Amino acid sequence: MKCVKCGGKAVIHLRQHNTLALCKEDFLAWVPEQTQRFIEKYRMFGRDDWLLVAVSGGKDSLSLWDILWRLGYAADGLYIGLGIDGGIGYSDKSLKMCQQFAAARGLNLQVVDVPQEFGRTIPEFSARVQRGRKKPCAVCGLAKRHIMNRAAREGGYDVLLTGHNLDDEAATLMANTLNWMSGYLLRQSPVLEAGSGGLARKAKPLCRIYERDMAAYALLRGIPHVYEECPYASGSKSLFYKELLNRLEAERPGAKMSFYVAFLEAKESGLFARQADPDLERLHNCPTCGQPTTAVGECAFCRMLAKAAA
Ligand code: SF4
Repeated sequence: MKCVKCGGKAVIHLRQHNTLALCKEDFLAWVPEQTQRFIEKYRMFGRDDWLLVAVSGGKDSLSLWDILWRLGYAADGLYIGLGIDGGIGYSDKSLKMCQQFAAARGLNLQVVDVPQEFGRTIPEFSARVQRGRKKPCAVCGLAKRHIMNRAAREGGYDVLLTGHNLDDEAATLMANTLNWMSGYLLRQSPVLEAGSGGLARKAKPLCRIYERDMAAYALLRGIPHVYEECPYASGSKSLFYKELLNRLEAERPGAKMSFYVAFLEAKESGLFARQADPDLERLHNCPTCGQPTTAVGECAFCRMLAKAAA
């Protein structure tokens, strides 16, 4: 197969874009171009904004940081050490990947280590408070949201970025649609505006790029990253929905993309009437940590810390 841009040898065929086949150089230019296109299309941020990228050591978040750096944006990284070992030293390996990445490009990486700052690892917190079924994911999500928002707010960043790709977004959309989670559907978006009380503005610049293409970008760009998934990811609902969507994609190339993009267009055209979000109306500041929360009284993270300490 030949590259449609230069006629050289193609290394990748993007089936969701019909005949698009690209050589290594053109593919490595195409991914940042597409990212920039969607940053502008969804008005995520501008050249003067100061960005904070949440990095996990995986292909998506490190590739996102690489792309932003190449596009000339001012972006720092935030790594959250969860204290997860899983027999593979998962957190230690992830941190090392992020540190090497930042050092190689002279970028600033902030590290928040959960065991050091809060006294326990995420799996220990989870066992202590018995939240979630046998997996620490519920506690992990709660801690990550709390720490990311705090870091963005206290650091004075304009936008907090995550490396969610199109497969992540389509899987979330499928889960939310199958259960008609109207509040989540209303909030699922490439960009979430800053909320009252210190909710950081959030954006997902890779939301229109396939996971497979991000894996190819990391590989061809030579970005060292953690290949293993978090040991607690196996059997997750998100992986289940991704597999379903991949089966659909195999039969109908582009199905994942049209599922997600048609949803965004339907929202844009007013299919989901914008109404007052009851959760956002309840938003107030936690009396203990000061972060915005919809819970009555203390936020869920402070309550989890108190329960674990009891
Ligand atoms: Fe946290 Fe994800 Fe691992 Fe669950 S799978 S513990 S949410 S990193």
